[in-house]
Amino acid sequence: MLNIKYELSQNLKAKPEDESKLGFGKVFTDHMFVMDYTTGKGWHDARIVPFGEISLSPAAMVFHYGQEIFEGMKAYRTPNGDIQFFRPEENFKRLNVSAERLVIPELPVEDALQALHALVEVEKDWVPHNDGASLYIRPFIIATDPILGVRPGDNYMFMIILSPSGAYYSTGLNPVDIYVETNYVRAVRGGMGYTKTGGNYAASLAGQDEAHKQNYSQVLWLDGVERKYIEEVGAMNIMFIIDGEIVTPELQGSILPGITRKSVLDLCRKWGMKVSERRISIQEISDAYDAGKLQEVFGTGTAAVISPVGHLKWGDKVMEINGNKIGEISQKLYDTMTGMQYGKLPDDMGWIVKL
Ligand SMILES: *Cc1c(COP(=O)(O)O)cnc(C)c1O
Repeated sequence: MLNIKYELSQNLKAKPEDESKLGFGKVFTDHMFVMDYTTGKGWHDARIVPFGEISLSPAAMVFHYGQEIFEGMKAYRTPNGDIQFFRPEENFKRLNVSAERLVIPELPVEDALQALHALVEVEKDWVPHNDGASLYIRPFIIATDPILGVRPGDNYMFMIILSPSGAYYSTGLNPVDIYVETNYVRAVRGGMGYTKTGGNYAASLAGQDEAHKQNYSQVLWLDGVERKYIEEVGAMNIMFIIDGEIVTPELQGSILPGITRKSVLDLCRKWGMKVSERRISIQEISDAYDAGKLQEVFGTGTAAVISPVGHLKWGDKVMEINGNKIGEISQKLYDTMTGMQYGKLPDDMGWIVKL
């Protein structure tokens, strides 16, 4: 158990008046959770303090060599005003998987969960009420040693910041257009692709930027070695429904093991669908499309939950998926997942944790 000290803010900010204008990740709550780590002492000085700037040496390791990991999750408000989380222990287990890869000290899952509950309890009035809006939660760890030598740090900070965010879909579940990236790669097996670390996102920005210039919302990454096999999209895993079967790339080290991915696969299995996690080449997708067997394509991730793909471009070929409309399974998955998250459907999977 952490011994959390509270230093509460004396001047609370006004809550957003119009939740439909929140956007994503721009507004922060009044407080944040902070805890330090020092080699030999372990994690110490757990505290909830006013949200604000922090002071670090310009030599702090995180600025130079990117020793940083993060998580992304949400708190949801139910129709009767309760607040709940979706599989939060999975996020903190994954944080430790990322920590191991980046030689960051382990953070006990129970401690991280205690910190999460304590902070959201203080900030519970910030959890939005609007349909589809939520309190986005960003836990992260950075190396703070003021030393330019390349080695794992001896000093770290774990923080949680909270951002009330608007509905991802303000005008219904609109399909997005994505293209297959054939120039840049995001990660390779043996690298850090399976971790949530800033470096993976830094590697993805050039591709993302190019996609935006061409009016595509995201890129679909291929494997970094053969440039043939499908990996994932920006901050989402990708799924295909081919001839009634749900197919998604297997977890082999270069893609992020999404909690939404895992939950969607569990639901599909429960519904009796054929599910397969395996290698999928972009050629196979193109062939399935030509044969009229590519029924639905969608991304999965905490932010959007399900993001239907309307157009998928590979070289000169543009595949229009399901007439650029959300598919039946995509819609059912979205309704089931969000129904559970917002407490509008019973949680028969044991995924919901109440504040
Ligand atoms: C976070 C993330 C995902 C989605 O993971 P969820 O746990 O479902 O939110 C997928 N890909 C990448 C690269 C990510 O960072």
